[in-house]
Amino acid sequence: MSNYMLKLAKRIQDIKESPTLAIAAKAKAMKAKGWDVIDFGAGEPDFDTPDNIKDAAIKAIMSGFTKYTAVGGIDELKDAIIEKFKRDNNLAYTREEILVSCGGKQSFFNLAQAFFEKGNEVIIPAPYWVSYPPMVAIAGATPIILPAREEDAFKITPEQFSDAITPATKAVVINSPSNPTGTAYLPEELKAIADIAVKKGIFIISDEIYEKLLFDNHPFASIASFSEELKRQTIVLNGVSKTYSMTGWRIGYAAGPKELIKAMTNIQSQSTSNPTSISQKAAIEAIKGPQNAVHNMVAEFDKRRKAIVNGLNAIKGVRCTLPPGTFYAFPNISRLLKKRFNGKAINSSGDFAEFLLEEAEVAVVPGEAFGGEGHIRLSYATSMENIKEGLKRIEDAVRKLE
Ligand code: PLP
Repeated sequence: MSNYMLKLAKRIQDIKESPTLAIAAKAKAMKAKGWDVIDFGAGEPDFDTPDNIKDAAIKAIMSGFTKYTAVGGIDELKDAIIEKFKRDNNLAYTREEILVSCGGKQSFFNLAQAFFEKGNEVIIPAPYWVSYPPMVAIAGATPIILPAREEDAFKITPEQFSDAITPATKAVVINSPSNPTGTAYLPEELKAIADIAVKKGIFIISDEIYEKLLFDNHPFASIASFSEELKRQTIVLNGVSKTYSMTGWRIGYAAGPKELIKAMTNIQSQSTSNPTSISQKAAIEAIKGPQNAVHNMVAEFDKRRKAIVNGLNAIKGVRCTLPPGTFYAFPNISRLLKKRFNGKAINSSGDFAEFLLEEAEVAVVPGEAFGGEGHIRLSYATSMENIKEGLKRIEDAVRKLE
């Protein structure tokens, strides 16, 4: 018998599976077993990828565009991204300042590997996207979680930011519109944060992947566009996943100082190489082609946003503000904690999510996964019918709590 013992690297021993993907997997497994689960866990639009984008991919396949490409993306796609930044954000970049990766997630991963090391602190406002802290930690740096207050609409204030800065602070992550809260900073709020970053020499990571998912004409400004000085100490992350219902195609991109982009490209060249050639052609069509599918999707999300928030507020013990962006609602359920179901205490948002899954057959993500205990995240990227039925089930289940 072999006495071989498998020993994982110490560096990754505390790294867990992404909790949002874990919930999605659990709900899927229950559905496969015949449970009638209503899934509010999804981190992706429920719409199909628009046909013009699919056609561009089919054309790429049929014309034999199926081989390795330049590691950091083909020039035609980089040029489309450059045009997008000019058109939408009034930002001028060159090809050397752009990197196309296998999703926004890989953009952040490359960045963390290229830029962070032991001894660095990275300020991450909470509630945060689940993957920021582990990606910073994998790079050996320390995530500094800065809780944004619910009464400040889950946005950090300039004072909070300033107070969190230490001599070890290397960067701050700003994600607006935000996953999981759906909050979005106003341009003047970003400006106040940017002024501190410039004064104190803190690099800004601006994750703008939900840029196009804003309602009620909420204004959007890329933080990098405020000044040339600021642009030099900012990296903008964006991608096609959410805007064009292209989560499976895996295309994200980064724009920033060319030395940093070069280092990130080198990391990508030693890991995945180029993003899929076919997806790159599809992304060109997404960015440059007609945008009506995006507008239709946002109009539909807006209707659902109002329905889900109204429905949540009608449930006793639940409080939810109307978020200005994304396709997530992030209600406060803290008044339901410490209650009991069948004698078992519900002590945390995790317990509450488990209770909903088992008792109501409704999948939500617990706020604790995002550093937002006392809340749950519901994605309304699901049909209005599901939203109505899901809300009814949650209401019925909550009534059973003692
Ligand atoms: N950034 C945020 C805030 C997200 O919510 C996500 C996906 O959930 C991503 C980045 C990455 O998306 P993708 O890797 O599909 O481009």
